[in-house]
Formats: sequence, C-alpha cells, structure tokens
Amino acid sequence: MPMSAALQQRLSPRLGDIAEQFGTPFHLYDEAGIRATGMRLRQAFAGAEGFREFFAVKALPNPSVLAIMHDLGFGFDCSSVPELVLSRRVGAGGDDIMFTSNNTAPEEFAAAAADGGAILNLDDVTLIDKVPAFPERICFRYNPGPRRTGNSIIGHPEEAKYGVSHEQVVGAYRRARERGARRFGLHTMVCSNELHGEYMVETVRMLLGVVTEVGEALGIAFEFVNMGGGLGIPYRPGETALDLESMGAEICALLDDFRAQFGSVPRLCMESGRFMTGPHGVLVTRAINHKHIYREYVGVDACMSSLMRPGMYGAYHHLTVLGKENAPADTLVDVVGSLCENNDKFAVQRALPRIEEGDLLLIHDTGAHGHAMGFTYNGRLRPQELLLREDGSVELIRRAETLEDHFATLNFAPQVMAGT
Ligand SMILES: *Cc1c(COP(=O)(O)O)cnc(C)c1O
Repeated sequence: MPMSAALQQRLSPRLGDIAEQFGTPFHLYDEAGIRATGMRLRQAFAGAEGFREFFAVKALPNPSVLAIMHDLGFGFDCSSVPELVLSRRVGAGGDDIMFTSNNTAPEEFAAAAADGGAILNLDDVTLIDKVPAFPERICFRYNPGPRRTGNSIIGHPEEAKYGVSHEQVVGAYRRARERGARRFGLHTMVCSNELHGEYMVETVRMLLGVVTEVGEALGIAFEFVNMGGGLGIPYRPGETALDLESMGAEICALLDDFRAQFGSVPRLCMESGRFMTGPHGVLVTRAINHKHIYREYVGVDACMSSLMRPGMYGAYHHLTVLGKENAPADTLVDVVGSLCENNDKFAVQRALPRIEEGDLLLIHDTGAHGHAMGFTYNGRLRPQELLLREDGSVELIRRAETLEDHFATLNFAPQVMAGT
C-alpha cells in the first residue's frame, strides 16, 4: 500500500500549489485517513467491551493531531513530561493517559500524579518504593524474556531494557498491594512494526496467562490488559498489510474464552502509534542538486532533521517523484540531505525516474516517528508540519524551526562557580 492511494490521488493535483504556498520541505498529514484508520481500529475491537486505544504520543506529538485522537475517543500513551503536558492541553486527563516511562526520574512521577493524574505503568520493581504517593490503581510493564522470541525491530525481549521479568511479576503486584494499590492492570510491548496479526494474538494470550498466574497467586483481579503498540504498516510496495479485522476477531475470541472460564475478563487496551498515523503522512522535499561521482546522487532540501528512520535503522521509505509516478525507474541513485554524516540518505541505490532540479519528491509513510525523531545536529533545523483537513483545506500546524529557536538555549543568566 505505501501511503494511502487515496491520499496520493487527492494530493497529486494540489501538491505543486501547496509547495508554492508553504515552501519546502514539510510533512503533510491527512486528517481523513487518520480518522478512517481510527474508526477501523475501533470497529475491529468492537467485540471487546471497553476496548480503548491510547495513541502513542511519541509517534506524532502535534497538538492538532492529538486533538483528532481525543475526538476519536482515544487516550494517550505518554513516556515523558512534555508528552503529558501535550496530552493534557488537548483535554486529556486521569483515565485518558497511560504514563509508561523507562528509567523513571522522581520529577516524572510527580508530573504524572499532578494535573488530574494518569494511569501509572511501572517499568521496574525498584520503582515501587520510589513512587511518592502510591496510587490506588497501578500497572506493570511485563517483559517475557526468553518466553517470546522477538520480532525484527525490538529484537529479543531478553535483551530489551524494558519491563519486569517473569520471575519478578508476582512480587511486583504483591509489593504494590502492600503500598495501597487496589486496582490492577498489566502491560507489555514486545514488538514493533509487526505485520503478522498472529504475533499480536499471542501477545494477548500471553498477557491473559500472566493475569491468571498473578491473580491466582495473590487473589487479585485485573481491570485491564494493555497489549502495547507495534502494529505494523507495509513500507515497501508489495508487502502484505496487517489483517486488522481477523486479528481483532481472534483477540476478541480469546477474551470471550477467558470470560467464559473465569466469569469476567480485563478490558483490552492498545497503544498504537505507527498504525494510526504512519501511512497518513508524507515528507515533501525538493531536489536541489544532482551530482555524479562513483555513484549518482540527488540532493534534496530535507535531511535527517526531518526524518531519521532511514539513517538510524536503515528503514525503507517508499519514494515517488511528483508527475513522474509512471515514468520508468531507470536511474540508480542515492537521495541525500546536506548533513555532514554519511547516513544522511533517504534512499540508497534506489531505482527512480530521472530527477531534475526543482522536482518534488514524496517520501511516503512519514506520519509516525518522522518529524518527532528529527534532530538538529549540524545546525540543521526541523521542518514545518501541515494538516490536510477533511474539507480539503491545508493548515500549518507547526512552523519550521528558526535560528532564534535554535539559539534559544544560549539565552540565560550568567552563572559561574568560582575555582578554589
Ligand atoms: C513507541 C511505543 C509505542 C508505539 O509503538 P508503535 O510501533 O508506533 O505502535 C507504544 N507503547 C510504548 C510503550 C512505546 O514505547
């Protein structure tokens, strides 16, 4: 599928004008597509009573997009104080926020408890005694270790820094209960960009197994299980998309079986980021240079400050050239930014149509972990973000970074500690 075909169709006739009006580069997100995916997700889990998606804020932390998620009835998965602040600014509070951090600092516990609170999801047993005012409701992040083989991005859970080990899990809930917890949830996040629904079904089966084990050991009932995010999208043409509907049906059947056996079942939560917004974003950048040395290079006006995934993970992002969608892909090129860093490449040895200076390139599927991951190394600033509204209007939802933004941290009151 790379990037919804519908978006590409709606965008193609207008992209030249949009680039003219706003300048390049920019990420553009598609409200209609995000809403359609949100409705599809809700529909796929309609059979799981109380199901809720907590959008993973780190995937696309723009308030205008978060407002759409809030409107869809979704909560937010936050892992830092700024993410908490953003979520609260669009009206989320208390039950709408799941705070999952790793290597958590005291200020983060304080921020999670303030301003209406959040559902606290603890990453380690040693944190139980570091939470200042222990909440009545608590969740733990579970790491199955060798009980699950990893998927390709996260790798083996055994090597991942997250969560409570299987051996620790009963003790964690026991200690939480000693500290006053009375309501319980269980969370895990064992995969990333997983295209096989069966892997997610196994994850829910695993969670229900742990719920049973802990429940029997301590005589507690669980209010919810959170299967994490990690639902994949097809970045490459020809890749088979995740079968959301059959995955949802199988998971709902698991929950029904559990209810039949035990009389009740925990509510199901999920915290998808990529699946919700990934295919509904595109990075638009203009070709500004062309060079030929040992290889053929096309230089564009965006760089890793806009999109890190190719450089950081060797991730594939499909790339098309406006107006040349059907032209023969007969030149092998590297598409590069201007960073003094040789992994600043959006495509490596990719067969593309012949690109002229001034051409607009569409880097597909940048709606998740795109702009948010961009960094300003080398003084390369982050680009603007645009939102294509359902009514066809295009709205600036974040301006490009300026030199003043970049130098803002050099504005401070002088402070010197005297030498001895
Ligand atoms: C990153 C993250 C997610 C979202 O992952 P996606 O692959 O975007 O679905 C969800 N939960 C936690 C705890 C995360 O760290």
